[in-house]
Formats: sequence, structure tokens, C-alpha cells
Amino acid sequence: MDLALLDDRLAAHGEPPFRSRQIWEWAARGADSYEQMTNLPVELRTALADEVPFSSLEPVREALARDGTAKALFETADGRPVETVLMRYRDGRRSLCLSSQSGCPLTCTFCATGRMKFGRNLTVSEILDQALHFRRSDAVNHAVFMGMGEPLMNLDNVLAACERLPELGIATSNTAISTVGWIPGIERMASEGPPARLALSLHASDDSLRSELMPVNERYPLPDVLAACLRWHEARRRQVFVEYLMLEGVNDRYEQALELAAALVPRKAFKLNLIPYNPTDAGFRGSGRDAIAAFRAVLEGRGVRSTVRLTRGRDIDAACGQLAARG
Ligand code: SAH
Repeated sequence: MDLALLDDRLAAHGEPPFRSRQIWEWAARGADSYEQMTNLPVELRTALADEVPFSSLEPVREALARDGTAKALFETADGRPVETVLMRYRDGRRSLCLSSQSGCPLTCTFCATGRMKFGRNLTVSEILDQALHFRRSDAVNHAVFMGMGEPLMNLDNVLAACERLPELGIATSNTAISTVGWIPGIERMASEGPPARLALSLHASDDSLRSELMPVNERYPLPDVLAACLRWHEARRRQVFVEYLMLEGVNDRYEQALELAAALVPRKAFKLNLIPYNPTDAGFRGSGRDAIAAFRAVLEGRGVRSTVRLTRGRDIDAACGQLAARG
């Protein structure tokens, strides 16, 4: 719900300051209407139902993948599309993939979101309402800002939303913010806000290949990005998650594994995740299972351990890089 509007209406009704907190606590615990908020006066519940929409997002469509992954397409009040994914794992992990913007202004060549029209930054309430939507059906416990958009270009709102996620059941240490390498944002994350984890979309260790794949690299070149990540690591004493998309014939060669190993120093500062490419209409092909295994073995030989990300929700276009609000 629009928390600023809520405060405004509560003040107009002459309600005491603790009301706002009471209402938020109900919402954070999964309530789906004001009606359920039994410690609020009945007249106030009725008034709020008229004056403050329960969510700032209108669900437009939902899809459920065979592996249990759910994707929701929402629309903001001004008609902007937003997608959110919930991944359900056997071990009980319930991980939300949140969007920070409608669309994305960056134009990474392999990503479907980068090819749709950029809308705008999402508000704190629009970010939280994505999480609250799934909180109503599931005991969510992890969140990643890996949906639409570049979270570090909307950092005030992303950090303000992170502050409230623990009340939904998502500890800050279980929240990760992923970036293309937006240096001013990485620097701010080192010194302010809740200590959420940092993830870097690296994808190529060679500066010119990276610029080809991710034009933002021209603005913030990789060596500077890695230096900023190391400063974050020193300040927060946590490993930086590094994401490396595996693209056949593009970044999966032997020498490129060596280059990647050379970039990730000191070893203890980074945790590498190799990502199988999910099909989009961008014209890339993902590296096959054997190519990924071979790449991984080269890294291992240089002392770089890595995990291969499980692909979730591909059959409903809910996997990494597939969010384009096509429904
Ligand atoms: N803008 C931020 C947040 C989005 S995270 C960032 O780029 O980090 C989305 C992740 O999915 C990024 O690591 C992105 O590079 C990756 N990705 C994009 N397209 C993909 C695709 N087709 N298959 C797999 N991963 C993809």
C-alpha cells in the first residue's frame, strides 16, 4: 500500500501515530484486507478501504511453472508493467525476485528486460507490494533484487524497502542486491543502509567484450567496478556474489576461464555463480552442460570454486533475463 498516502489519511482522520505501524504489521504478516485488522476501529477500516488502495500494484496475470516457480505481472497506478517471481525450493527456501524499475534503462544485449521500453523507478511501496503479494500465500524468507531494472539506479527506494523486509520474514542477510556495476551505488552500499548482500553481474572479464555485451561498461569499466566491490567487501566483511552468464562461443572459452580466475582476487572476496543462459530473442546460445563443466574445472584448477545456478521457471519466461512483461 502507498505508505505515504496511508500516513496522510490517518492524520486527516485524527488517528494516533501508532496506527500506521499497526496497519503495516498486519500487512507484513500477510493480511489481505483492512477488514482483517481487528485491532482497528471498524469505521477506520471502512474509511481506509475507500481511501487507500490495499496495494499500489494491480495484479494483471499470474503464471505457475512446473517447478513451482510463480510469476506475477502487475500494473502500477499509472499503467507501468512490473514483474515479480517467487521461487519455491524443496528445502523450504522461498525466494522472491523483486523488480526495482519498470523496464530498464540499460541495454545489456542478452537480457529481455533491456529490450523493452524503460518506464521509471518504482516507489518504496511498489517494491514492498510485490513482496506483500507473495507474502499472502507463502512464508517468504529470501529476496534478490534481480527482477526488472538496475537497483542501484533507484537505491534510496531499494534500501528503504530492504529496511522493511525483515518484518515480512526476510532477514537482511538473506537479501541480495544485484548490479551491472553501477559504481556510485556500490559505494553507497558500502557505507549506508542495511547490510544487504551485493551481487555483481560480471559476464566477461575482458573489458572490450564486456562493453560489447553490457554497454554500461563504457561508463564504469570493469577494473573500477571490481575495485568498488572490494571496498564494499572490506567495509561489510561479506563475499561479493559474482554472476557469470555462460554464452556459447562468446565468453566460455578456456582462456576466458583463466581471465576470470585472474580477475577474482583475492579469492576470499568473491563467490562465483555460473548462470546457464535462458533463451530470449536476443540471438545468443547458452553454453551446454559440458562446456559449463569444463569452464568450471579450469576455474577450480586456479582455486576458484563456483556453483552453477539452478534454472527456475523457464517454461513461463520467469527465469533470469526473461522478464519483459509480455505475460
Ligand atoms: N540490473 C541488475 C539486476 C538484474 S539481475 C543486474 O544486471 O545485475 C538479472 C540477472 O540475470 C543479471 O545477472 C543478468 O545479467 C542476468 N540475465 C540477463 N539475461 C539473462 C538470460 N537471458 N539468461 C540468464 N541470465 C540472464
